[in-house]
Amino acid sequence: MEIGRIIRVSGPLVVAENMPEARMYDMVRVSEAGLLGEIIEVRGDRASIQVYEETAGLGPGEPVYNTGLPLSVELGPGLIEAIFDGVQRPLDVVWKKAGDYITRGVEAEALDRERRWEFVPRVKEGDVVQAGDILGTVQETKPVEHRIMVPPDIAEGKVVEIFQGEATVVDTVARLETKEGIVELSMMQKWPVRKGRPYKEKLGPYVPLITGQRILDTLFPVAKGGTACIPGPFGSGKTVTQHQLAKWADAEIVVYIGCGERGNEMTDVLMEFPELLDPQTDEPLMKRTVLIANTSNMPVAAREASVYTGITIAEYFRDMGYSVALMADSTSRWAEALREISGRLEEMPGEEGYPAYLGSRVAEFYERAGRTICLGSEERDGALTVVGAVSPPGGDLSEPVTQATLRVVKVFWSLDAALAYRRHFPAINWLLSYSLYQENVDPYFREMLGEKWIEMRREAMRILQEEAELEEIVRLVGIDALSPRERLVLETAKSIREDFLHQNSFHDVDTYTSIEKQFRMMELILNFHRAALKVVEKGELDLDLDKLFVLPVRERIARAKYVAEEDLAELDDIDEEIKVQMGALSGEGGEEVA
Ligand code: ADP
Repeated sequence: MEIGRIIRVSGPLVVAENMPEARMYDMVRVSEAGLLGEIIEVRGDRASIQVYEETAGLGPGEPVYNTGLPLSVELGPGLIEAIFDGVQRPLDVVWKKAGDYITRGVEAEALDRERRWEFVPRVKEGDVVQAGDILGTVQETKPVEHRIMVPPDIAEGKVVEIFQGEATVVDTVARLETKEGIVELSMMQKWPVRKGRPYKEKLGPYVPLITGQRILDTLFPVAKGGTACIPGPFGSGKTVTQHQLAKWADAEIVVYIGCGERGNEMTDVLMEFPELLDPQTDEPLMKRTVLIANTSNMPVAAREASVYTGITIAEYFRDMGYSVALMADSTSRWAEALREISGRLEEMPGEEGYPAYLGSRVAEFYERAGRTICLGSEERDGALTVVGAVSPPGGDLSEPVTQATLRVVKVFWSLDAALAYRRHFPAINWLLSYSLYQENVDPYFREMLGEKWIEMRREAMRILQEEAELEEIVRLVGIDALSPRERLVLETAKSIREDFLHQNSFHDVDTYTSIEKQFRMMELILNFHRAALKVVEKGELDLDLDKLFVLPVRERIARAKYVAEEDLAELDDIDEEIKVQMGALSGEGGEEVA
């Protein structure tokens, strides 16, 4: 093999010549220290290499060895609970070897080669299997059964030997007879990160990812296999929202990619995430999580790679038939890494110095989300939902990364600094946010809750929008300009905001609301509204509106969020009380309204 020679070093970028066999995205080892790098541009026999390690001290003339292989991840038991850097080196191993700063040329295998796993076969000798078929399983952690699959590049084979018992990820657990001869399979497979893993078919985004967060599920749902973006100024609740999703969304596996800029941002993730408890099992959430962490002292190129490393791991679990939620926080840091490397390549800069291909890179990343029919003869489907946080400088949503993201994602949860300042959490602005999945998932909700759910949601949204218009009028000419009906709309909007949308992540009961409870809570608010509207419209009562607003039942509506899931019958009670108290108000006739 030819050995390349460095001719130029520019930060994380190294240019080498005498590399006639260089191909895009080949992995290379730079200098005798063996720094890990990846070819990102080829011109004649010159290759530009982004290096995933500190390049200080490198100089012209030093050797570059091409491995001829693309940057790949190792997939197998040992992924869950791991914390990796952007090129899948386990941080604990790296730290042990190199101390806090990841020094150079540290070789650390992604999956532990020593650890033994109990492999339980699912096939027997003589079975014919194809790509994606499950050969056996490993109970990796209490909640996660790791399914060992025939790798995608093996079309078909007959099982001639299958193992049972304890094995490491490199031990052979199956021998297949294929057209190309005998193939030995271990529990580990490799996959190049820049290439999406194959599946049979993409399914439409028709199933909502239930999160238990009322504003998300009711107003701005994301579909399983869908994409969402949370742009969040500092302190607006980005992290809390992502943690809530990680804990409560009906996803079996969580992949969290943290790209920090300031040192402490990432430390937060490394400290906080392992502390989170999984509400379903009361075990650490890490028991079904893979964490990819880029601290600010890691080279930018590793940050560029980290989103690919993360999404490839996520696809692998999707292929097992799981619902996977991938969270990237924040993709702005990834885009900044792209910008820096592009600058070093002396490419023509686009908007704000980002490369012209920023949009297509962002799109390619989110396109790897989806609900899919997995490879394999046995029918199963998996889903990979991608939620990207963006941190627009100064909260300015017109900047290129936010814009590129909004062009591809289908859900926009707009975190609002003003709401956070007022302590309205989750500080998601209901007028700016949107979900393009709403119509896709409506049939699912209709099936579950009936048409009424959809009507209520629309009505709630209408009331919130009318509130915004009415507030404008109030600002201009004062509250007295409003009709009683309009004042009631303001009051109901307030109730929707405070009694429904506001949700305290740190309250035992309020932190999660089932869809059924969301439905009942909304029903209470709107039943009150309709009953009150009747009273108001009767008019002849010459009602003092405040009498309506201070009815004792309103306090109970406000506290409905704290009613435990097992006590939902209590909500029927409240509904009764609305009728009684409203009836008493419009009372003289003794007629019931509701
Ligand atoms: P960011 O990550 O955007 O900087 P955080 O997620 O850390 O912001 O949120 C900042 C603070 O806001 C939190 O420490 C918490 O006190 C409060 N907060 C955010 N979201 C919620 C929520 N849903 N419920 C209660 N408090 C919240």
